Amino acid sequence: MGDRKFFVGGNWKMNGLKPDIDEIVAFMNAGPLNENTDVVVSPPAIYLDYARQKLNANIGVAAQNCYKAGKGAFTGDISPEMIKDCGCEWVILGHSERRNVFGENDELVGAKTKYALSQGLSVIACIGEKLEEREADQTMDVVQRQTTALIENIGDNWGKVVLAYEPVWAIGTGKTATPDQAQEVHQKLRAWLAGKTSDTVAQSLRIIYGGSVNAGNCKDLAQKEDIDGFLVGGASLKPDFVKIVNAKE
Ligand code: PEP
Repeated sequence: MGDRKFFVGGNWKMNGLKPDIDEIVAFMNAGPLNENTDVVVSPPAIYLDYARQKLNANIGVAAQNCYKAGKGAFTGDISPEMIKDCGCEWVILGHSERRNVFGENDELVGAKTKYALSQGLSVIACIGEKLEEREADQTMDVVQRQTTALIENIGDNWGKVVLAYEPVWAIGTGKTATPDQAQEVHQKLRAWLAGKTSDTVAQSLRIIYGGSVNAGNCKDLAQKEDIDGFLVGGASLKPDFVKIVNAKE
């Protein structure tokens, strides 16, 4: 798989009060975490500062979303500048819950990606098809459409992007894509990206998988050539997350 460094993100979603965060911080700081894996956790926005201050420096912190502007009349939202001001370097954009619960479209996700990158944040950009789209054999059409909206906005900043393939039907459902299913999409995406960007971008870009990853299935998924890590939801709240971080030997 070339020299792509394994990457594991933990998306806490809208979970955790301070005592819960203290527990997560305790098992994350205790580790041990594989030094050859980049690890980033993503608390709710209101706890970014709290989590950043308590987590060891080798654990990155991501916001779960941000807006496409630095400041202004955008009630309830946060800016990349605020995320950085809390000492955090990452943001998750385009998560399927943002797209499907909050109605974010490709254009908005692209604009957010562009602005976050312009402010020096790194981006975990999420794409993935719904069940009906997979059943209609539209998986590649959907992920290519979503990725096209990103390509236009990433420009030369691919080094600060991790692409997360998260089939919507596998998120929070306990229904994981098989290693072969995930590998097939990752491999096709990488080949398609080489044509749309360059071989160098396609070969160095980390494409991670998300969707019901747990301590039981992570090792098999991690064996696949084009799976460069995971974005983990539910299982990132439990001590087993350390096993997922260490899935790649
Ligand atoms: C996610 O929220 O990105 C996710 C993959 O969730 P889960 O692991 O719970 O399916």
